[in-house]
Amino acid sequence: MKTDVQVAVIGGGIVGASVLYWLAKMGWTDSVLLERRELTSGSTWHAAGNTTYFGPYPKMTALFAGSIRTYLQAEAESGQSVGFHQTGSLRLAATERELALFHAYAPRYAQLGIPFHIRSPEAVAELHPFLDTTAIYGAAHTPTDGHVDPTGATNALAQAARQHGALIERHCPVKALVREAGKWVLDTPKGKVTAGHVVVATSFWAREMLEPLGLRLPLYPTQHHEIITQALPQIAALDRELPAMRDSWVSCNVRQERDGLLIGIYEKAPEFWALDGIPPDFKEELLPPNMDPLMPHLERLMTRMPLFAQAGIKVVNNGPMCLTPDGLPLIGPVPDREGLWLAAGFNVGIGTGGGSAEILARWMTTGQPPQGLSAIHADRFGKGMDRAAALAAIRDVYARGYELPDAI
Ligand SMILES: Cc1cc2nc3c(=O)[nH]c(=O)nc-3n(C[C@H](O)[C@H](O)[C@H](O)COP(=O)(O)OP(=O)(O)OC[C@H]3O[C@@H](n4cnc5c(N)ncnc54)[C@H](O)[C@@H]3O)c2cc1C
Repeated sequence: MKTDVQVAVIGGGIVGASVLYWLAKMGWTDSVLLERRELTSGSTWHAAGNTTYFGPYPKMTALFAGSIRTYLQAEAESGQSVGFHQTGSLRLAATERELALFHAYAPRYAQLGIPFHIRSPEAVAELHPFLDTTAIYGAAHTPTDGHVDPTGATNALAQAARQHGALIERHCPVKALVREAGKWVLDTPKGKVTAGHVVVATSFWAREMLEPLGLRLPLYPTQHHEIITQALPQIAALDRELPAMRDSWVSCNVRQERDGLLIGIYEKAPEFWALDGIPPDFKEELLPPNMDPLMPHLERLMTRMPLFAQAGIKVVNNGPMCLTPDGLPLIGPVPDREGLWLAAGFNVGIGTGGGSAEILARWMTTGQPPQGLSAIHADRFGKGMDRAAALAAIRDVYARGYELPDAI
């Protein structure tokens, strides 16, 4: 193992792999990624892979757009498929206010050159024949987004990063991180690694990892469910894949998965997981499902998409997912810790990981912070947050699901 590098990226999920890829592509090839187990073994392997452009903050649309671009670029360079399905997506307007906000968001998409249309309920019904559109006001339609295979995308990024000269060490958990003689020293079972810069991309492990440095990152794992249905003949009969749809009234996202549906739910009373420490032997694991809190949402989904009422449930996945008090990731340098960078706290890590990594890598290689993205800066919570306050805010942000914020 190389023992002295310019950059050590810790964590081999979609975010760490994207950071390694972009650093190497921007010329910082003396970089190594250290992963405690296999690539994707945190939240990435079980994610639904939605990479849709519509987000609640138009300022951040570049992160979504940059992600699909990053994955397709890594696919082209590595030859490894990222499994992109360009289905397009619909963000339903459940209220008049949502529809008005969609109009307010449109200029940002135009600025970035992303196709973005406001569709009438009738047009939505044509795009998605299984939606009951009688109670909606329309939808925002982004026809060029869709979903990827998160594992395929991570492998493509890793392979492309290696082609650019970066290294990856699997089964190499970082046990300690200390500052010595102006460098970072990472202690691993394979030996010590000295690095000028460290990027912490360890998702919900990051808080415990950085506590010994006196940092209190306000990020915690919540439980998040996705449901996959049996195949439905009505879907099998389609000659195209359904667009993904997201709906604040149901508080869920739904996309086609083979000939069935894949549903992700933001319930009103989310549960945390492993608040007192991630089990040291945690592997590629799922958590026991808890259907009761999901039922009100599934009932609403039967109204919005009557076809769902006919679907048998094939799989319920409950996985841990990292959240911060405002639902946005922590990206950038840690104040007063020279050379220490964060790329953690992602709850839409597939949708925003690739684009966020590009921004972080540019920040690291040029020293210039991105313009207009203070909402995601790693230092925005100051010296941290009291645990009870952080948990209350996370519970609230999760429960709000797809509700749009007052300020955009
Ligand atoms: C059911 C479900 C569905 C989801 N669907 C979507 C979706 O459709 N779209 C979307 O954008 N997001 C989705 N998400 C969220 C998404 O999975 C995460 O945002 C994303 O995977 C986070 O990526 P990451 O790289 O930050 O973290 P992870 O994938 O968790 O990676 C962190 C890595 O760090 C490693 N690590 C930890 N500690 C150490 C250490 N000490 N040394 C070395 N390595 C270490 C871990 O082993 C792990 O591999 C979903 C989540 C769930 C639970």
